[in-house]
Order: sequence, then C-alpha cells, then structure tokens
Amino acid sequence: MNIKEEELLKWDADHLMHWVTPVGQNAGFIIEKAKGIKFYDTTGKEYIDGASQLVCVTLGYKYNDEIAAVAAEQLKKLPYMTNFWGFTHPAMIECGQRLARLTPEGLDHFCFTNGGSESTEISFQLARKYWKIKGTNKYKIISLYNSYHGVMYGAVTATGLFMGAMSSGFTPLVPGFIKAPSYYCYRCMLGLNYPECGIECAKQLEKIIQLEGPDNVAAFIVEPVHGTAGHMPPPPEYWPMVRDICTKYDVLLIADEVMSGFGRTGKAFAVEHWGVKPDMMTLAKGITSSYIPFGAVAMNDKVYDVFKGSFFAGATFSGHPVAAAVSSKVMEIYLRDKIFENAANIGKYAMERLKSQFLPLPCVGEVSGLGLMIGIEIVEDKANKKGFDPASGVMHTIQDKALENGLFVRVSDQSWTSSNRVSFCPPLVVTKEEVDKILDILYPIVAALKPS
Ligand code: PLP
Repeated sequence: MNIKEEELLKWDADHLMHWVTPVGQNAGFIIEKAKGIKFYDTTGKEYIDGASQLVCVTLGYKYNDEIAAVAAEQLKKLPYMTNFWGFTHPAMIECGQRLARLTPEGLDHFCFTNGGSESTEISFQLARKYWKIKGTNKYKIISLYNSYHGVMYGAVTATGLFMGAMSSGFTPLVPGFIKAPSYYCYRCMLGLNYPECGIECAKQLEKIIQLEGPDNVAAFIVEPVHGTAGHMPPPPEYWPMVRDICTKYDVLLIADEVMSGFGRTGKAFAVEHWGVKPDMMTLAKGITSSYIPFGAVAMNDKVYDVFKGSFFAGATFSGHPVAAAVSSKVMEIYLRDKIFENAANIGKYAMERLKSQFLPLPCVGEVSGLGLMIGIEIVEDKANKKGFDPASGVMHTIQDKALENGLFVRVSDQSWTSSNRVSFCPPLVVTKEEVDKILDILYPIVAALKPS
C-alpha cells in the first residue's frame, strides 16, 4: 500500500461512519472496481464475491456496460420527475408493468421506495391504514424472532435478530409490535423436532393472534427464508399454514422478499416455492441488482382497492426515472439470460458439494438453504449444537482468512445465541467453476476449526 492509500484510509476512518463497524475504523483496503463476480482493491488484489455483498448484487458486476448505457440514456432524456400530484413517466410505468409480469399473479399494484427498510416501513403504514379505512381497530404487527426487516423505526422494531443490539441507544421503539417464534428448525425455539413438532411455530402464530385479539392484529410480516440471520428456510408446511391462519383471522400477510426476491432462491420470488400468495411483498436489492438504490411494495387488489381515493405522503426519490429504467433492464436480463434458472441449477450443485464435503466436518452443524441462499452452521460441538465462545472471534476469523485468500464471505455472528453461520450466496450469474473456486478457498478454513 502506498502513502496516498494510507492517507485516504486515515481520512476515511477519521470522517466517515461505516455501518456494522466500530466508528473510527475501516477494513484497511479501498475497493475501486468490480467485474464479473469479482471486486478489486487499489493494490490490484482481487476478491471473489461469495456473498453478493449484502446479498444484493444478483447479477454481480457482469452487466456494468449494458446497465450504464440505460442509466446514461435516461439521465439525458428525463433525469428526474416526481411522482407527486399524479405526475408519471414512461420509465416508472414500464417498470411497474415488468414487475407485474414477474411477481406472483394478483400482486400487481406497486408503490416505489428507495430500498428495503423503506419498503418495510411503508408496508406497515399501508397495513395500519388499510384497517383504519375499513373502520376497524387493527394495528398490531407480528414478526418473527431471528428476522431482519431493516433499520428504520418500524423495521427495526419488527426485527427479531441480534437481541435488541440493533436498536440499543435509540429506544423507545414503536408500540404495537409483537414477536412470534422463528421457524429455524436446527435451533427450534420451542425445543421441538421436525416433523414430529407438527410445525408448532406456525401454530403459535394462531395462538398469538388469539391472545392479542384478532380485532387488534393488522399484519404478519415474515421473510420467506431467514436472511441476515444466516439463510434458514422454513419447513415446507410453514408458509401454507401461516397463509391459512392469516386468512382465517383477517390478518394481512406481508412477505419480506427484499433479500429472497428476484431469483435468489431459484424462483422469481421465494413464496413461489410453496404456491402461497401474500397480500403484500416488500422488494429492494435485486430489483435493480443494486446497480442503483430502489425498492417497491407490491400489493394485491384487496389491499389496493381499499386505498382508492386515499391520500399518501411520499419520498422525493420514489419512482426515480433512472432507478426505474435500470430496474426494467435488470428484469429484462433476468428473463433473457435465464438468471433464475441458473440460480436453481447452480444452487443445487453447490448444495450437493456442501452436504457431501462440508457437512461431515467436525465443526459444521448443518447446511441448509434454497437456491443460492445457503447457510453453513458453525458449531464447536456437533452433538449438543454448542456454538463457539463469542470471545474466540471464530466467525470473524473465518471472514478474515477468506479475505486474505481473495474471497469475500458473509458471516452471521450471533455468538450469544450460538447461531453462527457462513453464508454462501454468490451472484446468481455464478458458474460451476466459480462455485468450486469459492468452496476450494472456504473448505480448508472451515476444516481447520477444532471442536472442543
Ligand atoms: N428486509 C430484509 C429481508 C432484508 O434482508 C433487508 C436488508 O438486508 C432489509 C429488509 C432492509 O433493506 P435495506 O438494507 O435496503 O434498507
């Protein structure tokens, strides 16, 4: 590293806040470009992106030129247009039409946002207002332990991950939010085993709705597959069961597809694995493959029709023409280049190798996931599923060693709940050869872990 880079890193540490990093620190390198599924730092070192960064660059960096051309054209033609007062523009309409064709049938009304947290937030406002307009008192929102829904006040209140660490220092949070048990079978909160459990976690939702009063419960928000917690899919019965419960008690079902949407699990949207239709879906990340910030809330007729004639405030950038144009192009590429099919096929290949090669290792407790959303559970003791002592810093050592070897992997380090997982979620354009390269780097790092 030369003096100039050292100076830049020092200025960065002194002036810029990095999320999920102690303030005043940075990673010690500067990323300047990306291509294919790799990014490169200023010293020329390359890193394979085994995590699609924040599980968001679905197309990796493979289509930079094609997307840049679309963004440039839109910038020249109509760089900005509000969608307030009913103003509209071709880029937003086309994006909506493409979304309507991609989302599950019936979910074909949208409002646009600037990202996942805002989508979550808006979905809560829509849910509460929906019931208000219908003349009821339903306002409570149920979410799951282990879930992640974002950083804004409602989203962070609904988030069930990190035992409150996410919101420490800026409480009180938003009233009217309730948590239900997670569907994370390997560490069942109810102490049960699948399938003898009869999917008690789903049944608990019904009990909670009854206890809280069906006349008070507005919505249930749930990730189709736990994301930030480390990629744990629910048992196959879970989604159909919670759909039935929500229908029975007139509770709006919100699928948070911010991470799992746009092909991540091998289907356009993860709810399609179970043939379930939510009332609303929150979207972001893959909606533009993260080429530009954007998001949306999708809703069905039942929800949309209630709002006809109602008034909502919105954000300046909602429906931004450049983001909308990029989103349309990204959706075109998904279909044109069969990206979701690739995620399903390559995900199957990766899962086979992970199960046959990684799972037998002494410190791997389970491997689970859907498509290219896979988690590898790291344990100190396989027999009793004990995790490593947080002080050991094992999860960060795995991440650091991978980086040293030119691989970026995401780890979910919740050492205090013994739930430590390495995420395997490369861009959906990944090839078999690239999967092998990633796993060849990761294997000796995980194999070197010593049980107690
Ligand atoms: N919902 C889910 C399921 C997520 O995974 C995330 C981010 O990881 C969010 C919401 C928040 O999205 P954003 O970071 O774009 O605000």
